[in-house]
Amino acid sequence: MEKRLIKKDALAGIAKKMAGDVLVWAPVKQEDNVLFKPLRADDEPFFAYLNSKNAPKNVFFPHTETLMKYTRTEKGMVFSEEVNDAPQSVLFGVRPCDAHSFVLLDKLFDQEKYKDGYYIAKRRNTTVITLACVKPPYTSCFCTSVDGEPVSSDGADILLTDIGGDYLVEFVTEKGEKLAKYFGDTQADAAADAKKNEIAAKAKEAIASKIPAHEVKPILDKNFDNPFWDTIHRKCLACGTCTYLCPTCHCFDISDEVTEVEGVRIRSWDSCMFPLFTKETSGHNPRTSQKERWRQRAMHKFKYYIDMFNAIACVGCGRCVMYCPVNIDIRKIVTDISKL
Ligand code: SF4
Ligand code: SF4
Repeated sequence: MEKRLIKKDALAGIAKKMAGDVLVWAPVKQEDNVLFKPLRADDEPFFAYLNSKNAPKNVFFPHTETLMKYTRTEKGMVFSEEVNDAPQSVLFGVRPCDAHSFVLLDKLFDQEKYKDGYYIAKRRNTTVITLACVKPPYTSCFCTSVDGEPVSSDGADILLTDIGGDYLVEFVTEKGEKLAKYFGDTQADAAADAKKNEIAAKAKEAIASKIPAHEVKPILDKNFDNPFWDTIHRKCLACGTCTYLCPTCHCFDISDEVTEVEGVRIRSWDSCMFPLFTKETSGHNPRTSQKERWRQRAMHKFKYYIDMFNAIACVGCGRCVMYCPVNIDIRKIVTDISKL
C-alpha cells in the first residue's frame, strides 16, 4: 500500500482541483451545519469539522431518488431509458464511522441474491476518502464499542491522517490509487508511519463512551416480550430524527407520482419511528405503538442485522444521542438491555 505526505494546508486545494475533473462531495459550512455537498467552484471545503450533522449516506442512498419514468400510451406502458445517474465521484473527507457505515449498507444493498442497482452503481463509481479522527470529536462517540476505530481505513479507498504539519495519505484500494496524481510525490517514511500509529492508539484510548454492544444479541434473542420494552419509548415523539441522521438506517418507501399519462416511480427515505411506516392497506398496523417501533429499532441494530449479516447496524457516531429532542440515548438502552 503506497503512502505519501501532503502539507495540511494543501488539502482544500486538492479537493478543489479534483472537483474540476469529477463530482466531489465534500464537507461545506452551511449556516450552523456542515453538510456533504457537491463542491462547486465557489465553495470552500471545510475539513476542520468535527462531524457532519447529516450522515453522508445520501451520496449512495439519496433522500429521494427516481427509479423509473413511464408513459401510458394506447399500446401500453412505455418506459424511458433507465434512470440511474451515477457519475464518477469522490466523497472527500468522511469520518471513519461513516465510512464504516458504507460497509454495513453494502451488506444490505449488495447481497448475493438481492442487488440494488441504484445503490451499487453509485457506490461503484465513488471513491471514498476518509479523514481520520485524531481526537474523538464528541463525548457521545462510541465507535470502538461497535467494531470501529477513530483512525480506521474500514470502508475507505484513501485514508488521511493528520500527523502534525502533514497528512499521511494511505492509498487503501486500487480505486484510491487511481487518485494518487492529486497527492504530490512526497513518499511517507517510517517516521510518519510510526507517528500515525501513535496517534491512532491515543485516539482509540480517548473514546471514553463504551457500551456492551456485543453482549446484547443473546439477550435480545430471548426478550422480545420483556416488560422492559414498555419503558424506553415513553418520551419518544416519533419525529424520526434518529433514523434520518443515522448513517446505517436505510428504510425507504416507494411511490408512484402519476399525471394523466406520465408517471414517475420514486424511492424516499422512511422511518421505522413513524406510525404509518408499517400501516397496511387494510388499515391494520402490526406495530401499534411507539413501544413496538422502538423495540424494532433496537432489535434491528443489535439483533436482526447480526442474524442476517453478522454485523451490528450501528457505527457509534452518536448522532441519535446528540440530536434526539427528548434525549433518548441508545447507549443507555443497550446498557440496560445487557442487564436484563
Ligand atoms: S429522535 Fe428521539 S424523539 Fe425522535 S423518533 Fe428518535 S427517539 Fe423518538
Ligand atoms: S444508531 Fe445512533 S449512534 Fe448508532 S450509527 Fe445510528 S445514529 Fe449513530
